[in-house]
Amino acid sequence: MNTASAPRREELRRALRATRDRIDTAAAACGRSDEASDIALIVVTKYFPAEDVAALVERGVTSIGESRDQEASAKVTELRERLTSAGMPQIHMIGQVQTKKARSVVRYADVVHSLDREKLASHLNRAVARAVEEGERVGPLDVTIQIDLGNGEDRGRGGVRPEDCEDLADFVSGCEGLRLRGVMAIAPDPARSDAGSAFARLGAVHQRVLAAHPEATWMSAGMSGDVEEAIAAGATHLRVGSAILGSRYIER
Ligand SMILES: *Cc1c(COP(=O)(O)O)cnc(C)c1O
Repeated sequence: MNTASAPRREELRRALRATRDRIDTAAAACGRSDEASDIALIVVTKYFPAEDVAALVERGVTSIGESRDQEASAKVTELRERLTSAGMPQIHMIGQVQTKKARSVVRYADVVHSLDREKLASHLNRAVARAVEEGERVGPLDVTIQIDLGNGEDRGRGGVRPEDCEDLADFVSGCEGLRLRGVMAIAPDPARSDAGSAFARLGAVHQRVLAAHPEATWMSAGMSGDVEEAIAAGATHLRVGSAILGSRYIER
């Protein structure tokens, strides 16, 4: 694995600083200044090479997001060769996961944000048990339940329907290998609904989940285009890609 060029490192440093400033400003604007440092920034590094991840880690990034198993597992292998285990960022799988990928994902992921069906929970749960037994991971997998905020109009982004979320949460909390941490959503197409009202719906679903599962405190919401709306709605985990890394690598 090479090292990112000096200009690239500088570009990443500036963009990261700008995003952190944006988070602080948004938190202050809605009276969350005290919590600003507790709002977790997950830098989404899909399409970008391990060199960029290493440069971000040097700048204090502790969590990265990936959306495809094949790309993520290769990148993690490179990072593990380069970084000490204490220096490794947490790996957040934010893209849809096929059940046949469960075995692979549990070998490197700390968190899966896109849990949206019982079948996937069962597969991940079994895969965790096996990976622990075989010494490929330690401890349970943190998960958030992905909610579909598109009212069925915005197919393809995944997520359980809001009305089915509590049943899925109950199911997940019964899985020994999984630890229910909260909820996650992607704002629907801006042409159909503004991010603020979509995230407010997510907040309402989150409250219902919290009533039965007080440990499920995370609300994973907010991407490059809607960080402010997400913070105003109570997001605890932001998933920001292009605002920091630029437009996708293959097009550069
Ligand atoms: C790609 C992706 C992001 C980051 O999106 P940007 O608009 O590049 O910030 C966040 N969440 C999910 C689920 C993604 O797939």
